[in-house]
Amino acid sequence: MTDSLSLPGHDWPELKPGWVWLCGAGPGDPGLLTLHAVNALRQADVVVYDALVQESILEWAPKAEHIYAGKRGGKPSAKQRDISLHLVELAREGKRVLRLKGGDPFVFGRGGEEAQTLIQHDIPVRIIPGISAGIGGLAYAGIPVTHRDVNQSVTFVTGHDQSGNTPQSLDWNAISRGSQVLVIYMGMKHLDQIMTSLLEAGRPSSEPVAIVTNATTDAQQVLETTLGSAVADVAASGLEPPAIICVGRSVLMRQVLDWQSLAKGEVPRNLDPLGRGRPAESA
Ligand code: SAH
Repeated sequence: MTDSLSLPGHDWPELKPGWVWLCGAGPGDPGLLTLHAVNALRQADVVVYDALVQESILEWAPKAEHIYAGKRGGKPSAKQRDISLHLVELAREGKRVLRLKGGDPFVFGRGGEEAQTLIQHDIPVRIIPGISAGIGGLAYAGIPVTHRDVNQSVTFVTGHDQSGNTPQSLDWNAISRGSQVLVIYMGMKHLDQIMTSLLEAGRPSSEPVAIVTNATTDAQQVLETTLGSAVADVAASGLEPPAIICVGRSVLMRQVLDWQSLAKGEVPRNLDPLGRGRPAESA
């Protein structure tokens, strides 16, 4: 038990010297940190954080040293192996190490690789999941990743692999057939190729697409488009990564569920965008 988090009714774990906690910071809004993340931020001697972690979240760890280990596609950045070995070094120095990653550390975040290296070097670890941008980021745009009238499955896809190319291993035909809703991370660089692959796989050019940039932050922007128009619309909008791309009819739900616009006094564009009647009526 530590006194680092004065909340009732829980035996908060202690971040001990020589340990590394690999922790998700959520998509941006500090309110989406978990309590375990806050508990970790309060105790850490050093926080090693990624590009997608909002600077304001570091204010929750005022006593810790903050080390930037950003990796952004296309820009010079620390090598993954160097980051992992740096964590090993810090732990061996007896520091309480918090490795803070955007979203969830095990969702397209190389958290698995880092944890593996740590364990291979006999460093004790704890994993703290976070809210992934592909779920929480879409929720902030008013898009539910599943909806009973839309999809019984959802597929999370990465738009590029370690080399920065579209992953060769992805079978877009199978992905297209297998899931009504696709949530694409890191998809902006190869948007053209991805949209073309989905169209070639037989998905209609009229299919709804939403692109949510800087989700859950003050800079959040949402573009609603279609598979056929996405590339031109993104170019015209000037939107930049980080972005989550959602393909599928769940995007239509935003017409009723765009709660951020409702909070500003706007009215829903369409109370029944799927044309299914209200849930209470359709039971
Ligand atoms: N581990 C993270 C994903 C890391 S990969 C998670 O679980 O969310 C990096 C990609 O995540 C970005 O290229 C983008 O596609 C997405 N992403 C992360 N944060 C985001 C945000 N606030 N808004 C939009 N996309 C985001």
